[in-house]
Amino acid sequence: MQNKIEQIISLLSEEFPGQKPKPSKSDPLDMLIATMLSQNTTDKASYIAFQNLKTRFKNWEEVLNSPISRVKDAIRVCGLANQKSKSIRLLLRDIKKKRKRINIDFVKKLPDNEIYNELLKYDGVGVKTVSCVLAFGLGRDVFPVDTHVHRLTNRLGLIKTKSPDKTFEQMKNLVPKGKKFLLHTLLIKFGRKICRSKNPLCGKCVLYDMCGFKDKEYYSSLSSKAAAVPKENNFIILENV
Ligand code: SF4
Repeated sequence: MQNKIEQIISLLSEEFPGQKPKPSKSDPLDMLIATMLSQNTTDKASYIAFQNLKTRFKNWEEVLNSPISRVKDAIRVCGLANQKSKSIRLLLRDIKKKRKRINIDFVKKLPDNEIYNELLKYDGVGVKTVSCVLAFGLGRDVFPVDTHVHRLTNRLGLIKTKSPDKTFEQMKNLVPKGKKFLLHTLLIKFGRKICRSKNPLCGKCVLYDMCGFKDKEYYSSLSSKAAAVPKENNFIILENV
């Protein structure tokens, strides 16, 4: 399986040149909140919401103590403002209660497994969110799995799982060391442009021969007639935080 994954990385690297092999680091709490904002929205919208929080409030303490309507206004652009503002405030309150201040820099010195154990204790924080903090906040060699990465790894036949968390558990042992972040970003791009959730462009896919998706022939016949691959008009928020 590792050979197949290496082959996928090589083919997708040719298809999407210029992907960074490693993430740049950022503040772990910023990354935690940026990841919460990024649920069910575009990268651009969640990036604007994150910037609004950073510019309209002095610090996370102020986000916690201001009227919630101010928080909602700041993040409205990324949708689900009610739910996300509540989740962010619950998280900040929980961090303050457990750490006595709103800061999670203590995780920087911990090994990956301890960071999962620590951060999963906080309200509203799941495995995907912690993986993003590790990869994008701390530059660790982990493989975050969202619904898109989950879909792709299953379609390609790398694993057979029912949920992103199960996919994460299996993929963490399959992806070669030092390649996890690169594979994650390549799959995100590939999922947006080619292996889309609906109507994948199988007829234009460089991974066609190695893909285990049962409907690939059907979608190949459709996508050979489809319009050209759409231009990239998004950016990865996690590269911008
Ligand atoms: S052949 Fe189709 S389903 Fe398989 S990876 Fe390519 S686009 Fe996705």
